[in-house]
Amino acid sequence: MSARDKHNRQGRYAAPAGDFEDRLQASGLRMTPHREHVFSVVCRELDHPTAEQVFLKAKESMPDISMATVYNCLEKFVECELLRLVQLDRGATRYCPNMHDHSHYYCESCGDVFDVDFDRRKLRQVLDLPQGAIPMGYEVAVRGLCPSCREEQTEDISPNQSKLQPN
Ligand SMILES: [Zn+2]
Ligand SMILES: [Zn+2]
Repeated sequence: MSARDKHNRQGRYAAPAGDFEDRLQASGLRMTPHREHVFSVVCRELDHPTAEQVFLKAKESMPDISMATVYNCLEKFVECELLRLVQLDRGATRYCPNMHDHSHYYCESCGDVFDVDFDRRKLRQVLDLPQGAIPMGYEVAVRGLCPSCREEQTEDISPNQSKLQPN
């Protein structure tokens, strides 16, 4: 992976321009206009979208694309390790184009999902894994409030709190 694969300030995966074509080519997957389009939607336009969100977004500039095609494309991409599945609680499966080690932080209020980097060695040190285990991958999800939802909640709470203040 190139050093261009950087996360933006919000911790979302920002696919650099041109990167997705390289990755598609390197995967050996036969390219079709649909595949190219669906992959670009996941990489560039949305943050950990569900299949339905990918479909709606893909349809905007490719009206003839069907939900079944989108599903097929996504399935192929996961198979070829261009995308990974992200399953958070009871929510619909989401798709993430960031194949580096990372965990997910998701906001329980607005549903936003952020990529969170971690150091594999450090994580291993804090996990009490069975003796002799050889971890091959990590799926770590942390939930809470994103910064903007936290701000909103603080604003909501403040007036109530002041009401509770004795006169
Ligand atoms: Zn991710
Ligand atoms: Zn939020």
